[in-house]
Amino acid sequence: MNLIFLGPPGAGKGTQAEAIINEFKIPQVSTGDIIRAAIRTESDLGKEFKSYTDAGKLVPDELVNRMVEARLGEDDCKTGFLLDGFPRTVAQAEALDGMLDKMGRKLDHVLLLEVADEVLVERITGRRSDPDTGRVYHVTFDPPPADIAARLIQRSDDTEEVLTSRLAEYHGKTAPLIPYYEKAALLRRVDGVGSKDEIRARAFGILGR
Ligand code: AMP
Repeated sequence: MNLIFLGPPGAGKGTQAEAIINEFKIPQVSTGDIIRAAIRTESDLGKEFKSYTDAGKLVPDELVNRMVEARLGEDDCKTGFLLDGFPRTVAQAEALDGMLDKMGRKLDHVLLLEVADEVLVERITGRRSDPDTGRVYHVTFDPPPADIAARLIQRSDDTEEVLTSRLAEYHGKTAPLIPYYEKAALLRRVDGVGSKDEIRARAFGILGR
């Protein structure tokens, strides 16, 4: 199963991705996670990435495309993958089409998780993650157990200010992927408002589970 998860920041792609990868036994390829890992190494490339992420801007296509091509070539992606946060521009989608052609593979579905901007602000600013396990919580909607609450951290780009810029990037550069994949008859819309279980059931229904 070769899947793309599309949707604005805070739509719940990461949360729903977990259920999908467990069900289909495919790896989640999150460009945001790959970029954050590079930033933690404090390499020159990591520093360059940070200048974009902290401003809520997209990292240049060529850099991201190369990382994704390398990742999709790894062994665990042979059975399929769930791309989370990639592609984010039409140029990235075209590059992905080229990569898949070369590998003799095809996309099965592009899931679009739909959530209105007003809802995203509350979701994003309340988001906290556990540095030990990577698990993401929400202070109101998915509160962490009391014994680990103190160690949780907030992503530096999960502030209202940076989110404004991330949403502008989404609407300007990523939303054109909606007609792109609609034309390819791959787009499946999923209402992203509701409980975690309700949204998972909608996504699984589309994926035939
Ligand atoms: P995410 O965790 O998917 O919200 O990504 C966090 C940040 O990483 C984004 O705001 C961008 O700065 C960068 N990023 C992640 N994926 C991409 C991508 N496909 N293209 C460009 N920048 C990306």
